[in-house]
Amino acid sequence: MASKGITILGASGSIGVSTLDVLARHPDRFHVFALTANSNVDKIFEQCQRFQPRYAVMVETAAATLLEKRLQAVGSEVVVLAGAEALDAVASSPETDYVMAAIVGAAGLLPTLAAARAGKRVMLANKEALVMSGQLFIDAVREHGAELLPIDSEHNAVFQCLPTDGRKGVEKILLTASGGPFRTWSSSDLQGVTPEQAVAHPNWSMGQKISVDSATLMNKGLEVIEACWLFGLPAERVEVVVHPQSTIHSMVSYNDGSVLAQLGNPDMRTPIAYALGWPERLVSGVAPLDLFATARLDFEQPDRERFPCLLLAYDAHARGGYATIALNAANEVAVKAFLGREIGFADIPLLVKDVMHQASAGTPMNLDDILIQDEESRVRSLSWIKNKKLH
Ligand code: NAD
Ligand code: MG
Repeated sequence: MASKGITILGASGSIGVSTLDVLARHPDRFHVFALTANSNVDKIFEQCQRFQPRYAVMVETAAATLLEKRLQAVGSEVVVLAGAEALDAVASSPETDYVMAAIVGAAGLLPTLAAARAGKRVMLANKEALVMSGQLFIDAVREHGAELLPIDSEHNAVFQCLPTDGRKGVEKILLTASGGPFRTWSSSDLQGVTPEQAVAHPNWSMGQKISVDSATLMNKGLEVIEACWLFGLPAERVEVVVHPQSTIHSMVSYNDGSVLAQLGNPDMRTPIAYALGWPERLVSGVAPLDLFATARLDFEQPDRERFPCLLLAYDAHARGGYATIALNAANEVAVKAFLGREIGFADIPLLVKDVMHQASAGTPMNLDDILIQDEESRVRSLSWIKNKKLH
């Protein structure tokens, strides 16, 4: 079999690093075509030395210049490109077969869409891109014959538990949620949560933004919307189940009473290996699950009052595409402000709710309208924060 060329969008991040760990186990099947990052020169330099991609892209120009100097000094042949447009170019190049979409947030939308439009195997970690673009993205995948494989552990689990030929007999998707680090905290304790506490996830090691999203349950809200688009189901048929051990990564419930689950240690290399190898399975480096050490599997209802972000996401999805874009943009701005200690943890859902409710009804039909709604919602979120500081 010919070696597959891989582009990793967001190579310096948590998912990017795990992807390279899996790729390193299969040098005969894959080669790295391009690595990209926003600004982390040290990380990309080290990865370039090890994986010798054709291209390295740094979105920030100064970072690209620095990376180029360092690579030249060691006689490397990696070509360094700068700027966001270069992301689209490496994601859609004829020399790449698979694209790992692992940029965090809205910044990943354009290159991920470029990969879909170029008919690539798109391995989607960047859930925000799908939440923003919904039908437009799914249509691009269909029209251009791309393969869309979910990396998010829940969606990858569902993908593994679904029938291979459609949705026959499927009643419901049961998305599991760890409940985050504050699952048992009272509403008043939640007021005083610090960024350090919020990024310390009990079961998974991840980037800062998704860690805060897991703590607010916005991550699960975004994942409900992601599941609706990926699997073509209405939100009433996507249910969230809190499962604190994170051993079951999600389930599919069938009309004959069967529930199929995918279990494993919480390590993203499993879904990454599954997407890289599909329909085959590949060694991932993840240790086998020790059921005797796991011992218990607990389940509870999510608490919608203490964690309002989950319902906000269902509400936005019911309102339409403009509302889900606003939800995502407001959340990105709110998380950044929380991490910068400008607003409190409990302000996140308040800000998101206000900005989401200002979005118009309906769904944008083209990319420009998506980007305009995203920008407007960010401006509204920033003025919400400014106002809050004045009062
Ligand atoms: P991270 O913060 O560790 O890494 C983010 C990556 O995006 C970095 O490589 C960074 O350079 C790049 N990036 C950031 N801003 C950028 C910009 N403006 N332009 C271009 N590149 C930019 O994040 P992560 O935890 O790896 O998460 C990445 C995505 O995968 C997110 O959408 C997240 O929701 C999703 N995801 C992550 C996990 C996980 O276990 N980490 C699990 C499921 C889904
Ligand atoms: Mg997930």
